[in-house]
Amino acid sequence: MKNNETLSKGSRRTFLQLSAAATAAMAFRISTEASLAAEERNVFHPGAVVIDANENPLGPCDAARKAIVDMAPQGGRYSYWLKEEFVKTFTEMEGIKPEYLHVYPGSSEPLHFSVLSFTSPAKSYVTADPGYEAGMKAAKISGARIVKTPLTKTYAHDIKAMLAAAPDAGLFYVCTPNNPTGTMTPHPDIEQLLAAKPKSSVVLVDEAYIHFSDGVSALDLVKADQDVIVLRTFSKIYGMAGIRCGMAIGRPDLLAKLENFSGWSAMPITAMAAATASLKHEHLVPERKQLNAAIRQKTFDWLASHGYSYVPSQSNCFMLDAKRPAKEVIDAMAKRNVYIGRPWPVWPTHVRITVGTQPEMDAFHEAFQAVMKNSTTTGFVPALNRRRSHPDGQYWPEISS
Ligand code: PLP
Repeated sequence: MKNNETLSKGSRRTFLQLSAAATAAMAFRISTEASLAAEERNVFHPGAVVIDANENPLGPCDAARKAIVDMAPQGGRYSYWLKEEFVKTFTEMEGIKPEYLHVYPGSSEPLHFSVLSFTSPAKSYVTADPGYEAGMKAAKISGARIVKTPLTKTYAHDIKAMLAAAPDAGLFYVCTPNNPTGTMTPHPDIEQLLAAKPKSSVVLVDEAYIHFSDGVSALDLVKADQDVIVLRTFSKIYGMAGIRCGMAIGRPDLLAKLENFSGWSAMPITAMAAATASLKHEHLVPERKQLNAAIRQKTFDWLASHGYSYVPSQSNCFMLDAKRPAKEVIDAMAKRNVYIGRPWPVWPTHVRITVGTQPEMDAFHEAFQAVMKNSTTTGFVPALNRRRSHPDGQYWPEISS
C-alpha cells in the first residue's frame, strides 16, 4: 500500500503545506564559505591548525573587541541607528551616497540575493572556473544556466570568453581577488565587461579579499551609476567572520531588487559597533595586509625551495599543486592535525591553502613535507595545459547547465 493512500484529507493538506514549506526553505538556503568548508571538515582535535576556510586567525582588532564589550549591555535593544552610523562612516570614507549602501550580516546574503534577482531560466549566471561556488548554488535555485569559463593564462577572469559564452547573461560574477586562486582581474577588464555586456545584465564584483591586494576597487564604477554591484565583507581582513557584517554597494534601483528577498531586518548591534570601530582604525588594513603578504611570501619561498608549485596570489589564500589527488592530500594532512582547504573539480590536484599565522604556516610546512614524502605522483598535467586551446591563444569556455 502506498503511504499517501493512508493520509486522510486533513492530514494530506498538512502534508502538502509542510512540503511547500520545506521547498521554500530549500529555495532560500544560502551557501557560505563556512558551509562549503564544513562539508569537508571533521571535528577538530586540540591544537589543530585550521587553514581551510579563509578565516583570519587574528580576529577583530582591539578597538572592535572593546566596541563589542561596551555594546553588550545594550543587547536587549534593536538600536537601528547604529546601522545608520556605520553607513555614514563607510559612505563618507568612500565618497558614496548613503542610499548606495545596504548592510547585511555578511556578504553571503547579498551575493545570493543578487543571483536570485538577476538570473532565471532565461538569464544565465556567468562565472570563472575555478571560482567561488556560492553563486552557482544560488543560480541552481533560480533555474539559470550556469556558464563557467576558465581563467586566463594570468589567472584573471576571461572577460572575452565570459561575454562570448553568454549572450543571454543575467549576471556576471567577478571575484577579485578570486577565491580560490587569490588572483586579480584588472579594473580595465571589468570596465570592458560593463561596456560590452548584454543590456539588461548586471556585473557583480565580489571584493571580499580586496584589502589584501594591490588591486583597484570597482567602487568608482558604482559611483558612475553603472550596472554593477560591489560586495564587501568584514569576514576577511577585519577578522569578523563570526561577528557577521557585509555589504552590497550599488545603484539604489539595483539594491531595491535584492531587498525583495531580505526585507528590513536589524543588524546585530555588536557587529555594527565592531565594524564601525574597525573602519575608523587607520592602521588596521595596511598592517594586516603587510603581515599577510610577508607570511604568504615566506610560504611561497619555502614551497619553491622544496620544488612545489603554486599559483601566486594577492590574497589570504592560494592554490597549491600537490600533483596527486587533492582529497588524498587533504586527508593525510588532517591525520597530522592540519586542516587545509577543499579542491575544485577543474583542478583535481590542487588544494586551497589559507594563509594563517607564521607558527600555523610552519606547522603546515612540516606536515606537508611529511605527507609529500609518502606521495605517489600521478602523471600530472598542469592545469593550463589541460584546457582546450582556442586558435588565438585564448581558451574555450566550459559550459555546464
Ligand atoms: N565572497 C567570497 C569570495 C568569499 O570567499 C566569502 C567567504 O569566504 C564571501 C563572499 C562571504 O563571506 P561572509 O558571508 O562571511 O561575508
